[in-house]
Amino acid sequence: MFQSSEIYGGLRSAYDYGPMGVELKRNLMNEWWTSMVHSREDIYGLDASIIMHPKVWRSSGHLANFTDPLVDCQVCQERFRADKAPKLAEGEDAPITLGDKGRAKAALAKLHEAGHEHIERKGKQLFGAKAGDRGYVCPNCGSPYLSAERDFNGMFRTSLGAVDPMAQVIAAVKASVAEGGDDKAIRKAVDAALEESAVYLRPETAQGMFVQFLNVQQSMAAKIPFGIAQMGKSFRNEVTVEHFIFRSCEFEQMEMEWFCEPGTGREWLEYWKETRMKWWQSIGLSADKLRLREHESSELAHYSDGTFDVEYDFPWGWDELEGIASRTNYDLNAHAEGSNKKLVYTDPEKDNPETGKKGWRYVPHVVEPAAGATRGMLAVLCAAYDEEPGDESGKGARTVLRLHPRLAPVKAAVLPLVRKQGMPETARKIADAFFAAGVNAKLDMQHAIGRRYARHDEIGTPYCITVDGQTAEDDTVTIRYRDDRRQERIKVEAAVDEVRRALRE
Ligand code: ATP
Repeated sequence: MFQSSEIYGGLRSAYDYGPMGVELKRNLMNEWWTSMVHSREDIYGLDASIIMHPKVWRSSGHLANFTDPLVDCQVCQERFRADKAPKLAEGEDAPITLGDKGRAKAALAKLHEAGHEHIERKGKQLFGAKAGDRGYVCPNCGSPYLSAERDFNGMFRTSLGAVDPMAQVIAAVKASVAEGGDDKAIRKAVDAALEESAVYLRPETAQGMFVQFLNVQQSMAAKIPFGIAQMGKSFRNEVTVEHFIFRSCEFEQMEMEWFCEPGTGREWLEYWKETRMKWWQSIGLSADKLRLREHESSELAHYSDGTFDVEYDFPWGWDELEGIASRTNYDLNAHAEGSNKKLVYTDPEKDNPETGKKGWRYVPHVVEPAAGATRGMLAVLCAAYDEEPGDESGKGARTVLRLHPRLAPVKAAVLPLVRKQGMPETARKIADAFFAAGVNAKLDMQHAIGRRYARHDEIGTPYCITVDGQTAEDDTVTIRYRDDRRQERIKVEAAVDEVRRALRE
């Protein structure tokens, strides 16, 4: 993975996925699609547009509520999210771990200047920071001197069509000034003018499934319970970007909305919790590094009657990979009201439980497993990365990426031992057989065989097929297994099948 626009100094928190990265990300997302859509009959795929009607975001509540509480530290000028800041009880002394921003020293001096005497620095921690009445302190310098909290909407706003937002802004400012409006009034007028032509990049893929619920249900004659799945890009103007691709402004999600009968949401929540935990394990995350954490009532969205996060034990601690929420019928109701369309499902076989009459019409309830694809990729990389020390002298030391074979960017490396005695030609034929079978293989001839094995261990190639002197004699090659470096001889014509069999496991 490379920093985006690197030759121009890079763009904050944006990354480009290079030849190996794109394969890993696609493989991970394909695994999700296979498990959600291809290997079952009750989930349908969707690819909705990233820019949707602005009313979608009004109805969903994102325009009003998709905000983070933003705060500025008045000592070190750090801008941060109040809800992610280190929590302290009123007046409590606590160590605050400094960020790596290199501003700590200056911040410390300013704290002293401001008469905050107890602060002491030990290594990367500040001791003696006292929480003000907010209960939190600046994550960078530990200071409790903070600006007021203000709501910051995380959606990216842009305009669609041949409108000139600047002209709208100028007109709004002129009109407001003419009326004697103060800064606040001008701001409001500008905001209203921009809203007229505003569209937003989606901050989640989920709304596509809600607004297309009826089209999908009717065109596929889908019977409840059923799901609609989508994966793709989402955009959030995150205040704090952190941990490489863990939290970035442009990222990818894998989300599924499961439509079910009223009263069955909690049951399905249990089902999806279990199913999703198994899936993360199936792609190589170990059970002891995964856990489900239930949202406390204070963090639970008002419409949800139960939400769990799948958390992974990242190098910095437990953090969210996926949210699994029982969302009641909130979303369909909100869009029905906003669009004035009836988003109801009719079950002709069932009786209405209230009237006892045949044919039950209802607004389905929804359970949503919403996973991060790019975040998942980071978890998979953390889980797979391994350094083997080798023997006492360090011989045999290596870095190896123990990726699940289905996720590995390259499935098989085909390696002629030396570049003579017809070995390259034989290797080319074997590589072609892999290509013909649709298996991503690499023919690799450069450098000594040991270096080539090391290179493929580092990118997680699970199988190396080596053509050597014996190949011409008995039509066999060695297959080397990445994880234990075991080598076996197999027939040339068995190589493709052997790798394909392993990929199915
Ligand atoms: P967080 O609390 O970490 O901000 P969230 O609860 O807002 O996440 P959801 O809205 O539930 O996240 O989104 C579902 C999933 O999308 C998350 O579990 C995460 O894997 C992924 N995701 C959300 N925001 C980002 C981001 N900025 N960068 C990368 N992945 C993200």
